[in-house]
Parts: sequence; C-alpha cells; structure tokens
Amino acid sequence: MMKMTTQEQMNQSVMGTYGRFPVVIDHGAGESCADETGKQYIDFGSGIGTTSLGYCNEAWTEAVCKQVKTMQHTSNLYYTKVQADFAQKLCQTAGYEKVFFCNSGAEANECAIKLARKYSFDKYGKGRHKILTLVNSFHGRTLCTLSATGQDVFHNYFFPFVEGFDYVTANDIADLESKLDDTVCAVMLEYIQGEGGVNALEQAFVDAVFEKCAAKDVLVIADEVQTGVGRTGTFLAGEQFGHKADVTTLAKGIAGGLPMGACLANEKCAGVLDKGSHGSTFGGNPVCCAGGLAVLNTITADGFLAEVQRKAKLLREKLEKLDGVESVSGLGLMIGIALKDKKAIDVANAALEKGLLVLTAKTKVRLLPPLTITDEEIEKGVAILADVLSK
Ligand SMILES: *Cc1c(COP(=O)(O)O)cnc(C)c1O
Repeated sequence: MMKMTTQEQMNQSVMGTYGRFPVVIDHGAGESCADETGKQYIDFGSGIGTTSLGYCNEAWTEAVCKQVKTMQHTSNLYYTKVQADFAQKLCQTAGYEKVFFCNSGAEANECAIKLARKYSFDKYGKGRHKILTLVNSFHGRTLCTLSATGQDVFHNYFFPFVEGFDYVTANDIADLESKLDDTVCAVMLEYIQGEGGVNALEQAFVDAVFEKCAAKDVLVIADEVQTGVGRTGTFLAGEQFGHKADVTTLAKGIAGGLPMGACLANEKCAGVLDKGSHGSTFGGNPVCCAGGLAVLNTITADGFLAEVQRKAKLLREKLEKLDGVESVSGLGLMIGIALKDKKAIDVANAALEKGLLVLTAKTKVRLLPPLTITDEEIEKGVAILADVLSK
C-alpha cells in the first residue's frame, strides 16, 4: 500500500470543516516554525493569536512541563494551588473581582451570557433576557454563540438557533438606542472586531454603550477573546477606550497556546453564578493554568507591554509604506491590512510559499504576531510581504 501523506491522512479522517493551507506544521521555536520538510516560516499569526509568547518559550515550557509531571488534572471538586495562583494574578492584572475558567472563547462567552441572564433574572425576574450584539461580530461556534454572532452567514443549517439576541449596527448610536429596550439584559461587544475584519469601534459609540447601559442596569460584556492579554499593547483593549466592562471574556492568547478560556466579572457580577449554576470538567486545568501563569508573569514584567507598543508602531509604519497597502487597521499587534487590488487569501498563500504565515479576516490580511516578535523578524516578515505585494 502507498504511504499516505499527512494531508491525505487528515483529509480522510478529520471532518472537512476547515480550509487549510497546504502545509504540515511540525515544530517551532521562538517566533518561527518549520514544516515536515524542515522549511522555516516566520509566524505572523501565532496560531490564531494563541501562541502569544511564540513557540516553546523557555519559561512557559518549563512551567507547563513541571506541572505535567506533578499532576495533569484533578476535577473542580477539589482546590489546586496553580489555579489559585493563576486566578488571583489574572483578577489582579485585569482588575476584576472573580473569574470562571473554561476551555475556549465560545465557552467563555457562553458563561458571560448565562451570567448576564441570571443577573437580570435574579434582580428583575423573567422577560429581561435579550442580549444585544453588534452586526459583523464574532463570538464563537456553539449554537448559543453562533446566535450571538451578528453575521447572517453563520445563521444557517442549524435551526432553531438560540433565542434572545438582536444586532446593533456598530457605531450607530441611534440604532443602539432603538434596540436597548426593557427586554435587554446585556450588550456584548468586541472593541476591535477581529474575524469581522479588524475594525476598531469608534470611541463615541463605546462611550454611548457604557453610558446607556449603566443608566438601565444593563450589563456590558466585552468579548476580549482576541484583543485581550496584551495583544493590543495594554492588558485589555478596554483600557485604551477608557472603559471596564462588567464582564470580560478571554481565551486565545491567555495560556500561550493551551486551551483555556476565562470569564471575568466585576464586583457587581462576581456572585451571580453560584453553586451548581455553571461548571466545566476541564475548566481551570492545572497544566493550562501553569501555562497561563507563565504568560501573565511574562506580560506583567516591567516594560513588556511598552515593548509590544513600540514593536507594533514599528510594524505598522513599515506596513503603511508598502505598495499595494490601502490602509492598516486595528490596535497594537492586532493588525488588519486592507489591500489595493490583491485578494487577501492570495497574499496569504504567496507569503506561505516564501516562508511567512499570515491570517486573513474578511477582505483583509490579518497579523497577530507573537507578542515576543523581534525587530529582526518584523524586518524579515515585512520584506516577504513587500515582495509578495509587488508581484
Ligand atoms: C476566536 C474568537 C472566539 C471563539 O473562540 P474559540 O476559542 O474558537 O471558541 C470568540 N470571540 C472572539 C472575539 C474571537 O476572536
């Protein structure tokens, strides 16, 4: 029998839910990885914003391996020191009262949605359950978070969807006002819509959401699954908008590439999910917490986020000067590149060919490089993009 390639093997045995690039990633170190043939790639995608400290960062690897060798799992029926340390540091760093741990962004958002509905139910009773999200948002792939996602393309096949969501046009304050009626318990937003095309919300709109929600005791949920944990140059993107949501969700980069989601709640919301009201078998897994703690220790070290901001500025300035680039969006190291005439997916494929991994978001090329990216790698990566765009 002919030996199958890895690609053939996967296509045969894994459901075809992904459009994959034709490459088999095998190993990585720092900000680069290699395929099965040994060809090297600079990674401007970090998975999808997950390997925030790059591949196999020393402190992170050490913490994770140590925890694996000590205890890989125990259930949430018991206490663990590593979850205690991670939770405390996360709450302190993010400025929240309490956290619920789960395993993904969608789960973190599910938790936030349940929390908001229960907050309202406990206080006001039935009928005030609606969550407003934004048109063009992305909140996950479970049935509930698909329902929350404000894009019609996602509202297909899987009927019936979860009830109780409505969609406000981003940056349209009048639309917000018209939909913020007495059935609403929360507004959920991404400060920068990631999958939707790396579009930052306007300050005036964010201000209006917080002001109008506060007046009606409607919770604000910030989905910082992609923007959080240093990605935009501050620990939370909300800091740059001058707001702190009642509830903030995190995932992607939080544990350096291990599955971890977190739902953070302020003082007002910290007690809403009480005994028996929510749970997760794997949530707060010790190995993932050890990885998360290593990420937090690195990011909160003196000068780390200032470096992220400096490198983001450097990268953005270089990108803006490239032929073929229409404009550069996003904040910090969350970057969208609008192209003049090329298709984003063609650019991504051509960059791959030349040894650079990039992502796309709608019509844009999207970059989410590791927060540890070096000036030299920025230089090299941009040179590859320049080459690809000039062809
Ligand atoms: C990726 C993403 C999610 C979903 O996260 P999963 O870990 O894939 O469930 C939710 N919200 C935002 C903003 C995201 O970028």
